[in-house]
Amino acid sequence: MIERDLEKLTRAESIDTGKPLSLARTLDIPRAASNFRFFATAILHTESEAHITDNLAFNYTVRQPRGIAGLISPWNLPLYLLSWKIAPAIAVGNTAIAKPSELTPMTAYMLCEIVREAELPNGVLNVVHGAGPNVGAAITAHPKINTISFTGGTLTGRKVAEACAPLFKKVSLELGGKNPNIIFADADLDAAIAGSVRSSFANQGQVCLCGSRVFVERSAYKDFVDCFIDKTSQLKMGDPLDEQTEQGAIVNKTQLEKIKFYVGLAQKEGGKIMLGGAAPQPPNERCRAGYFFPPTVITGLPVSCRTNREEIFGPVVTITPFDKEEEVIAYANDCDYGLASSVWTQNLNRAHRVAERINTGTVWVNCWLVRDLRVPFGGMKASGVGREGGEEALRFFTEPKNVCIAK
Ligand code: NAP
Repeated sequence: MIERDLEKLTRAESIDTGKPLSLARTLDIPRAASNFRFFATAILHTESEAHITDNLAFNYTVRQPRGIAGLISPWNLPLYLLSWKIAPAIAVGNTAIAKPSELTPMTAYMLCEIVREAELPNGVLNVVHGAGPNVGAAITAHPKINTISFTGGTLTGRKVAEACAPLFKKVSLELGGKNPNIIFADADLDAAIAGSVRSSFANQGQVCLCGSRVFVERSAYKDFVDCFIDKTSQLKMGDPLDEQTEQGAIVNKTQLEKIKFYVGLAQKEGGKIMLGGAAPQPPNERCRAGYFFPPTVITGLPVSCRTNREEIFGPVVTITPFDKEEEVIAYANDCDYGLASSVWTQNLNRAHRVAERINTGTVWVNCWLVRDLRVPFGGMKASGVGREGGEEALRFFTEPKNVCIAK
């Protein structure tokens, strides 16, 4: 039914978020359908554990639903991320109280119509609307909601953790990122540049996995920067509802102001704006009051400055040269976040070495945003606690109970 309603959902997602129609049509909505399909079959392929204790006893472990799961998700990938939680929660037998961001509630509402038509029993999926500090906080504080799966900013994640701790809730936190994107001189530079333009600016840089800190080995630095800027300047900004648009609008005024603040800060910190940097004229009359900001490339900043440490969550990247593998590993890890990273190299030994030492929950080598729904997904350090995806999600939403029977 999600696939049947692809165009309706695509349009709603684009209008709510400002993302280009083409992105919602090819990424957000198909992924929402895949989330349900994936977990519907995942539960057919799980195993139960059994342990024999010498000649004393026989143990078996059952995993039972935990009860009511509270699911809170952000505005950047609305239906994609909410369904990523709803599908495993209900597949293993919980009921769900799901809260989309109040900034982008439309596709969650439309999903309700779909699940009614699909005759999901009443009460299994309950979508509640309202602002985070009211409705989200009420979910995390409610004593009967014993499982909380949250995706959003790190500061909000801390509030969620604080609300849940005294009630001993099981919590999964998927939080912010400041992801390194490392390009070695031995990489296939065409692929690295194309991949980096995508990882920098997809969804106007408003994907938690976007690579906002680009590090390039010095011998390839100049060529990379020139080509990267050239390719980025070809991205077509425009009305999100225009089929040709590749860069749409920022989600709201607060986010736009935050982006402008960081671009100003970067200049104060000694950065040089190589591309973008100022809000453009809106693309047409319909978008007159829209929040647009162009892809922005900044060079010349020290690795440890605020611009390079704090999450901007917009179409802004910094590019920094490095000389040695050791040095770039230290740069990559010199950050409170640890969500994802990309490494571009044709040297397989180096790829393994660097992947082992970077402190991020996902390391992509010669690619970005290739997602297999079976793999563990989540962040280290301030990027989160716990993992989603595949077996990890099935385990999160269930309670293991060991039954021990004397022989
Ligand atoms: P946010 O402000 O933290 O909001 C996330 C969700 O939490 C929204 O539904 C929000 O509701 C709700 N909320 C706000 N205050 C709350 C509270 N006190 N208690 C409970 N819920 C509350 O984050 P955002 O600005 O929407 O999203 C951007 C952030 O999400 C970025 O940091 C990004 O990196 C991160 N993110 C992480 C992942 C990941 O998988 N790790 C994926 C996507 C995004 P309202 O919006 O209705 O107020």
